[in-house]
Amino acid sequence: NQRIDIFGVPVDAVDFPRALETVGKLLEGDHAGFIAAVNPEKIMRARDDVRLLEALNSAKLLIPDGIGVVWAARWLGLGRLSRVAGADLMPAICEIGAAQGRKVFLYGASPDVNGKVARILPERYPGLRVVGHQHGYVREPDMPKLVADINASQAEILFVALGSPRQELWMRRYVPELAVKVCQGVGGSFDVIAG
Ligand code: UDP
Repeated sequence: NQRIDIFGVPVDAVDFPRALETVGKLLEGDHAGFIAAVNPEKIMRARDDVRLLEALNSAKLLIPDGIGVVWAARWLGLGRLSRVAGADLMPAICEIGAAQGRKVFLYGASPDVNGKVARILPERYPGLRVVGHQHGYVREPDMPKLVADINASQAEILFVALGSPRQELWMRRYVPELAVKVCQGVGGSFDVIAG
């Protein structure tokens, strides 16, 4: 995918089908990759936060999340991007996962919300196998256990809902230790799914 630069912050020039194609390739491959959404807020923050910028740079896929990013790219003469919302990509990944009988782990949000999402997803996407879930308030000393749990679950897809920039920093730090194939940072999506 072509990676462009908006005010020093990377974003991939993908449309929705192309983003899904990249997800498909990650699911076929052996190297864990993570997906982050780039929105105007994150662009502004990453300009002042080198750790967030580094995290974004190590993502396999950076989706242009929102019309603000599309406009910025056009205004900068970087061509026409099309909007790929993280909130739309997650359900699409769940559909692929359901069709392929993939194993999913859900990390993030409050214990209540996390548990609800673990119940709701397999109902909404029959075939999707939620093999583990963990709320988003794990303390640093307990991270090795979380990593071990995710790997023991044999999850292939991991959704991380810690909000930003927490989830991007987490994915940069821990995805290299994980045996998952695809990891997506989904912000507040678990709260939306839990209703
Ligand atoms: N969250 C979490 N762990 C944390 C902080 C936040 O799991 O240490 C979850 C929170 O429960 C919510 C999501 O991250 O589901 C987004 O949180 P918030 O709106 O506070 O973050 P923002 O998106 O505003 O950065």
